[in-house]
Amino acid sequence: MAQPQMRRATESGVPDNRQFLHPLLKKNYGNWKYHDRPRPGVLHHVSHSGDEVWSVRAGTQRQMDVSTIRKLCDIADQYAEGHVRFTIRSNIEFMVSSAAKVAPLIAELEKSGFPVGGTGNSVSMIAHTQGWLHCDIPGTDASGVVKALMDELYDEFRREDMPNRVHLSTSCCEINCGGQADIAIIVQHTKPPKINHDLVANVCERPAVVARCPVAAIRPALVNGKPSLEVDEKKCICCGACYPPCPPMQINDPEHSKLAIWVGGKNSNARAKPTFMKMVAAGLPNNPPRWPEVSEAVKGILYAYKADARPWERLSDWIDRIGWPRFFERTELPFTKYLIDDWRGARANLNASTHIRF
Ligand code: SF4
Ligand code: SF4
Repeated sequence: MAQPQMRRATESGVPDNRQFLHPLLKKNYGNWKYHDRPRPGVLHHVSHSGDEVWSVRAGTQRQMDVSTIRKLCDIADQYAEGHVRFTIRSNIEFMVSSAAKVAPLIAELEKSGFPVGGTGNSVSMIAHTQGWLHCDIPGTDASGVVKALMDELYDEFRREDMPNRVHLSTSCCEINCGGQADIAIIVQHTKPPKINHDLVANVCERPAVVARCPVAAIRPALVNGKPSLEVDEKKCICCGACYPPCPPMQINDPEHSKLAIWVGGKNSNARAKPTFMKMVAAGLPNNPPRWPEVSEAVKGILYAYKADARPWERLSDWIDRIGWPRFFERTELPFTKYLIDDWRGARANLNASTHIRF
């Protein structure tokens, strides 16, 4: 009897990256002896096989038009053996197999407006979320804040004279898909959503929206004879989580949606455990196109850290050592009762939800 044919699994995930690697990286995969940094923006890897690779890192604006991508690919073809890759912070890296190719590649990148740097103890490129270009719920732009801020931190990207690596990020809603960073800029809504009751019944799945609220502040309600929703404003923490599944619950507001700065997050296990960020500046105006108030606060934190931290202290290590009172003294940020949660209070607040239990 014929055996039944097994259906082949269809894998539509990420393709195997090794097919795209520079041939020397592929050949020496997992066989590296050591690496060093001959200058800011250049990594030099030496393999046990004797092969050497130089990686030149440059900053980009992350969200790129086709002609910029073509330009970067032309530089790769002409100066860098035809291979590029992007790092997790949206820097671009070109790999070459001889030291003689490094200087012409750097010269061409700088001439084309891509600064070389972002390695070692520098301020690396800001990781930013999608902003107005791709996402449907942002309260501000993310790439715009990045451009404004990196224009001011340009030299810190090109040099390696911070105490340790500094990662910055921006997130354009409070869902914060930007993740943890040494310094993060995150939208902060300060008023509950305004509900357009005429649209709720046609647009929103009400049980889904009710279930979405982390503090159980949303209830089904009949308004003008139509099924709609109501928000208990005393409970609402203005997180914005109800807006994506129910756009008639508009929370973005030109005046009341602000920006906040959080510090001390990191993902790595190097030297100390990963840490979560804490909010240290609240209610900064969402002020495009240059966001000057945000730039000033970020630079205040960055340069206080640079002046005071010991070698190899990450921003969170520095704060742990000096303590929060001195952090606010040195950065000259105003300390208010809204800033640092003692977590015992948060435990009680969050436990008001039917969805979060400790
Ligand atoms: S931070 Fe929020 S608005 Fe911005 S891209 Fe992420 S989910 Fe979208
Ligand atoms: S989901 Fe967030 S913004 Fe919406 S009602 Fe609940 S707490 Fe308020």
